[in-house]
Amino acid sequence: MSVVRQAVTAVLIFALVAGALLLGFAVLRGRTQDLPWTRLDLGEPIGIFTGRKLAGLTGDYAQCRALLRRAGVRYAMLPPVKGEGQCGYSDGLRFEQGGAQQIDYSPARLVTSCPVAAALAMWEWNVVQPAAQRHLGAQVTRIDHLGSYSCRRIYGRSAGDWSEHATADAIDVAAFRLSDGTRISVLDDWDKGGAKAAFLREVRTGGCRLFSTVLSPDYNAAHRDHLHFDQAARGEMGWRTCR
Ligand SMILES: [Zn+2]
Repeated sequence: MSVVRQAVTAVLIFALVAGALLLGFAVLRGRTQDLPWTRLDLGEPIGIFTGRKLAGLTGDYAQCRALLRRAGVRYAMLPPVKGEGQCGYSDGLRFEQGGAQQIDYSPARLVTSCPVAAALAMWEWNVVQPAAQRHLGAQVTRIDHLGSYSCRRIYGRSAGDWSEHATADAIDVAAFRLSDGTRISVLDDWDKGGAKAAFLREVRTGGCRLFSTVLSPDYNAAHRDHLHFDQAARGEMGWRTCR
């Protein structure tokens, strides 16, 4: 019995010390976004728990929309969509032009699930624009995408797991257009080295802190022409895939 009690005491002490260290660390640095229990704010920098909180917005459409509104993102709510099998979504929205986003999506009026939209906004502010400034000395004004919602299984197979695209919980990004007219494409520039390739790798890796899954040309040939970002449910537990 005393062994059990000692073990429980040790675990409790460890948990208390770990919690105190985390709190002290976050407060000292003024970074409440690093704490697991604080409310997500899309306007804050990315913290240790930001990715989990974003994935956790799945299933809380109202909270997700409130966060976008507070951050100045313009959007339109969409009615639920029900497709065959597990396809469909009830937390869709469409980006509208202007507001706090400097990037337009092409094709225009991108439709995604709300948690993907929230992560895209944070990705723009915290990852894409700083990377474009650092590597290319310009702003990104447009992102060319290959779509979000698509009723399909992974890799378009006839059986197996449904893709996150089947619930609009994913987005495929193909290229970036800069304020000086430069175009950076995953297909053309990933393997060429130089500033464009460095930019692409930085936006890929930076996305790993905001999305549950990020897949690039480094993963396989199916991703040679785009970066795949999704908010799979496991991201709420901190299980991320970044390839
Ligand atoms: Zn995809």
